[in-house]
Amino acid sequence: MTSPTISQIGEISLIDDIRKQFSQKLRDVTVGIGDDAAVIKPREKYLLLTTDMMVEGVHFDLRFITAYQLGFKLISVNVSDIYAMGGIPRHVLLTIALHKNTPAEFVHMLMNGVKDAMTLYHAVLVGGDLSSTQDGISLSATLIGYAGKYILRSGAHVGDRIYVTGSLGDSACGLHVLKKMKRTVSLNKKNARGSMHSFCKKLGAMHGGPARSGLSWKIVEPLVRRHLMPEARNPQKFIRDATAMIDISDGLLIDLTRLCNEGSTGAKIYEEKIPVSIEMKKAAECLGIDPLTLALTGGEDYELLFTARQGKRVSATCIGEITESQRVIVNASGKERPLSVGGYRHFQ
Ligand code: ADP
Ligand code: MG
Repeated sequence: MTSPTISQIGEISLIDDIRKQFSQKLRDVTVGIGDDAAVIKPREKYLLLTTDMMVEGVHFDLRFITAYQLGFKLISVNVSDIYAMGGIPRHVLLTIALHKNTPAEFVHMLMNGVKDAMTLYHAVLVGGDLSSTQDGISLSATLIGYAGKYILRSGAHVGDRIYVTGSLGDSACGLHVLKKMKRTVSLNKKNARGSMHSFCKKLGAMHGGPARSGLSWKIVEPLVRRHLMPEARNPQKFIRDATAMIDISDGLLIDLTRLCNEGSTGAKIYEEKIPVSIEMKKAAECLGIDPLTLALTGGEDYELLFTARQGKRVSATCIGEITESQRVIVNASGKERPLSVGGYRHFQ
């Protein structure tokens, strides 16, 4: 049996379903979904407000991402902005625009992804809007977070060390793999591994990798996962020491440049210190892409880039230091080159 379309179900019943799925009695939500506006009780000194939009054909391609993964990602990218300010995410408003022929099942899966991500971050849905479109899907989430103290992009001082969390370039590498696969992958089911095995072997062989050591699903899965269902980094562990912070959504070089511009500083970073995962290195080599280029310019990792005073013990990878004005990258043999975003346009 095929799923009914959203126009067959109707807007009111669709909102009713969402309301049922997301209704929870919470101390800080006086009025949730159902009235003209939500009523919430702020619980910290500062409210942080952010919004992010995802448009089909611009931000995502339904050949590669499932409705569930899309819902999950939409929440994660918004949470990442709240974390990058040193805040705690809490209240979400969700705006969805869909074609009237969209299967109701698509909305159902999308909302499951939204729900699972919100559970992960302890955030709650308090309202939103629905609309029809002529063509394509458009999603937007607005997130309200809280902070006793917030951290800006502009707070770095000369001599501060520059840090990044996790590893870089995984998401961009995952996208390259997805483009080769030309289909969506399930990241939830245990059987995903089996169905992916032959593809990975083929991919390895296709790019001249040694036949037996071709890519395994174990290598590809974390990369594809990082692209489809990124998890935002909670900065709690180092928040006391961070002087400036930004999340890496557009690539290390672009986001570091933004941090430097806001603080009117320079930066010196060392190629050798940039954290890359073993999986990304292996997959990139197999695909014939330079891992360092991916790490420097690949977007959508949603790791945090921050600075801290010299001498602090920080649980993240130190990749360089803030300078007065010079912006350079140092290679393995100690040679410096300008830290320019323009030099790395291979993947645009
Ligand atoms: P109005 O026409 O007054 O904007 P709506 O019919 O659009 O009201 O919405 C009714 C209620 O359902 C509101 O509380 C609104 O926040 C909520 N709502 C509408 N769309 C969504 C959505 N996509 N997700 C969550 N809540 C929604
Ligand atoms: Mg409305």
